[in-house]
Amino acid sequence: MITLHDVHEQGGEAVKAAVLAFGARHLKASAETNWDEAEKHFTHLIEAIMGTAPLPQDSAAATVRRAENEAIGFLLAVNTRPNYRCPICVKQSGPPL
Ligand SMILES: [Zn+2]
Repeated sequence: MITLHDVHEQGGEAVKAAVLAFGARHLKASAETNWDEAEKHFTHLIEAIMGTAPLPQDSAAATVRRAENEAIGFLLAVNTRPNYRCPICVKQSGPPL
């Protein structure tokens, strides 16, 4: 599965900016970006997308690839909102819906 690091390496300017913004939602007590946590949450995001919308005609590899693309699309979409929260953080810390 693709990592946040790979996405940053391979992406264009908008994708790189979105990755950095997602990272910035995960801070250590020292206010440095907690990339370990950001990576973990990006993986959870891909897994969540895979779990919600499996297409019967997809192979396993295609399902992973599609979920990865959707996760990147998600980062790009939320990056237009200045104060968004990582949905995985919200799920872990917020009240149950
Ligand atoms: Zn998070």
